[in-house]
Amino acid sequence: MGTLYLKANNWFDSLNEHNERVQQVGDILLNLDYWDCECIDDFIHSISRRLCAICGAEQEECPSSRECEVQLFRKHGMLK
Ligand SMILES: [Zn+2]
Repeated sequence: MGTLYLKANNWFDSLNEHNERVQQVGDILLNLDYWDCECIDDFIHSISRRLCAICGAEQEECPSSRECEVQLFRKHGMLK
C-alpha cells in the first residue's frame, strides 16, 4: 500500500497520509475516520455521517472500516 504512518498524540493511534486516524487492532489496521455499514457495495461512510440511508445502519453500532478498504474506495473515487 505504501502508506506512510506518522506519530500522533495517542500512543496507539497514527495518521495516514491523508491525516486520517488509523489504529492497529491485532493484525488489522483500522481507519477510525470511517465506518462500515451493512451494504454489500458502498459500505464505507465518513464519521461525519451518522446513518446509512440505504441499509439504515447507525454509526454507533458499526465497526470502523479497514484502512486497506478505505484506500481502495478512495482509489476508485467511492469515498463520500
Ligand atoms: Zn448501508
